[in-house]
This record gives sequence, C-alpha cells and structure tokens, in this order.
Amino acid sequence: MTDLNHLFANNRLWARRIKESDPDFFTKLSHLQAPEYLWIGCSDSRVPANEIVKLLPGELFVHRNVGNIVLHTDLNCLSVLQYAVDVLKVKHIIVCGHYGCGGIKAALHNKELGLIDTWIRNIKDIYLKNRDEINGLPDEQARQDRLCELNVMSQVANVSHSNILQDAWKRQQDVTVHGWIYSIDDGILEDLKVDCSGLEQLEDIYRLR
Ligand SMILES: [Zn+2]
Repeated sequence: MTDLNHLFANNRLWARRIKESDPDFFTKLSHLQAPEYLWIGCSDSRVPANEIVKLLPGELFVHRNVGNIVLHTDLNCLSVLQYAVDVLKVKHIIVCGHYGCGGIKAALHNKELGLIDTWIRNIKDIYLKNRDEINGLPDEQARQDRLCELNVMSQVANVSHSNILQDAWKRQQDVTVHGWIYSIDDGILEDLKVDCSGLEQLEDIYRLR
C-alpha cells in the first residue's frame, strides 16, 4: 500500500496553523456554514477553487466536474445548485472554466477515452453551435481557448435557465450567476462579463411562467 502519511502530516500542520491564527475557527465552522459563493469549476488539479480566490473553509460552496458542465439532467450538480440557492442562499454563483482544459481539448478531437467521451460530448455540441467562429481562428491554441470561454458562457446560461434560479428570481432573491476563466499559465482569473441576475435577461423561450 502506498504510504500516505505525509498527507496526514500536512493536515495536522494546516489545522494547527489555522488554530494559531484563530483558536475558535473550527468550533465556529462546525456550528454553521454560510458561504456567499457557489463555485462550479473543473476537476483539474491545477485549479483549486478556494486557493485561487484566497477563501477559507466555510466561505465557498464547491461543485467540480470535468469541463465545469451544468446539465439539466445531472442530479449531482443540480442538487448542489438547489441547496446552495434555496438553503444556503448564496449571493453569487461562479462558473469558472480554465484555459488548457483537458476536457475542451478532448472535445476538439476524436480520440476515444472511454466513459468520459459521453460527458465530453456536451462540449462538442457547444463547438458545433459555434463552429464558424471557432474554425475561423488562426490556430489550434486560439480555437481551444475560445471553446473554453464559450463553454463557460454556455454553462452560465444553463444555470440561469434552471428552475432553481428562475424560482429564486421570481421570489426576488438576490443571486447573480457569473462566468469566469482562469489561466493556468499565470494564475490570473478574468471575468467574461456574462453575468445573469434576473429573469428579464433570459431568452423568452426559456422563461417559465
Ligand atoms: Zn478542465
């Protein structure tokens, strides 16, 4: 069996350091979680949600999957979204993609990878919808980068079209969906400026009355 003792040693050190700066930190957290943000990000190990926005445990509710995809049939993601909006009452939902995403790269190629091909097919659909724009870009890197951005925009729309967000907006709940993208090369986050914060921003075909 692999020796993972170093991970427990890291954990003890981490917990001790937090306690040194705030002796009641874990006691307070054990009674309540009240994060203001839901993060929907990629599973990629190079995009650690809390770290890149420098938030502590208790401050960020997190869902991650390959390619930061939000599907209307994914009970896992929708349950996280429903709990975050209805119970935790988060104020911001951040869909965060990243350049150099393996899921996006795979979607632009035809290599068979297994079960994940079914998941990645959702990104191929986004490519197909935007094929002319993407194919008009000068090189493979630019095409990948643009699909990373378009994927985030598409998932922001999926979150916003859900009954969960529409119901929240109908009862005047203050919650905004954001689309961000992270660069693994320099650690910098950018806002894609596709915020959605109310029913009036939805295409009519998606509005539920
Ligand atoms: Zn990724």
